Amino acid sequence: MPLGEFDLIDRFFRRPVRRSPLGIGDDCALLAPAPGQQLAVSCDLLVEGRHFLSTVAPQRLGHKALAVNLSDLAACGARPLAYTLALSMPRVDADFLAGLAAGLHALADAHDLDLVGGDTTAGPLSLCITVFGEVPPGAALLRSGARPGDEIWVSHPVGGGLGDARLALEVFRGTLALPGEAFEQVRRAMELPQPRVALGLMLRGVASAAIDLSDGLLGDLRHVLRRSGAALAQRDGGTAGDGVDALGATLQVDTLPRSAVLAAQTDDWQLRCLLTGGDDYELLFTAPCAARGLVERAGQRSGVALRRIGRIDSAPGLRLCDAAGRPIAFEGQAFDHFRA
Ligand code: ADP
Ligand code: MG
Repeated sequence: MPLGEFDLIDRFFRRPVRRSPLGIGDDCALLAPAPGQQLAVSCDLLVEGRHFLSTVAPQRLGHKALAVNLSDLAACGARPLAYTLALSMPRVDADFLAGLAAGLHALADAHDLDLVGGDTTAGPLSLCITVFGEVPPGAALLRSGARPGDEIWVSHPVGGGLGDARLALEVFRGTLALPGEAFEQVRRAMELPQPRVALGLMLRGVASAAIDLSDGLLGDLRHVLRRSGAALAQRDGGTAGDGVDALGATLQVDTLPRSAVLAAQTDDWQLRCLLTGGDDYELLFTAPCAARGLVERAGQRSGVALRRIGRIDSAPGLRLCDAAGRPIAFEGQAFDHFRA
């Protein structure tokens, strides 16, 4: 007999909770943030064919679905507490579910968070995860805190860089070819992103603004400029809408971290992957120059490589320049699900 809804939940998803008073099996889960902490909540929906390919191994799919959510907590400097999983799938496939659950549970264990509930239904394959984290009041990293003169930083894998996930996507699309070993490396970047949770925690009180790179560096940096510009304009007596032109940035393109695989591609592909790649799940953040030492210590203590890539300006617009300060032209856009 095929597995029913409740059998599959029991078999693959019910586990003892470690940090939550009540997990799977009741109508609600119960969460217990430490006294005085705020709850940080984020939700991400992954749809087959749009956010992941049908070729992905179930274990990697489980990892990535949770990783992209943890990355949002990381960007806010929140400590993970628990998550829920809403799952729709065309049929019950025990091998698929075992792989998916293994990927989810391994990453959850690594970050000490409980799967406390969810929903399961038949339908096209999609996963929706909501994560809950905790953060002391006033300590959350926001997109709105960047100020003129702040330096712009990005995290990256030790020995790697940004843009590899996009490179892998282009190989899947057939627009680029890579030798087997290089392809496996960038495919890992696409399918097994590492959420920078420890770094996010260490950037509390150090970074002025932060965001995780999901849609591509330029688009995500623009979000920071817009939110921070609006916050500045409001503080100066304007309305939030006045902030669109209140801030700009200069990026030094040569400093953008890139893997050996990406560095072997044409200049055009490198720029496209670095600036508009998406799916990096690294942290982009700003900090005053005076905090440089604290930033570097945060990177060392969290085991993540950091690179200083530019500066926030009071002149509106995004400027790209080379090592000598000469402007670089680039027309690419950030990833947009309704335009892609
Ligand atoms: P209800 O109908 O009251 O919403 P369900 O019958 O759908 O509850 O689910 C039973 C229990 O199993 C609930 O505690 C729910 O949170 C949990 N659950 C359902 N699906 C999942 C899933 N995919 N992962 C984890 N927990 C799940
Ligand atoms: Mg239900």
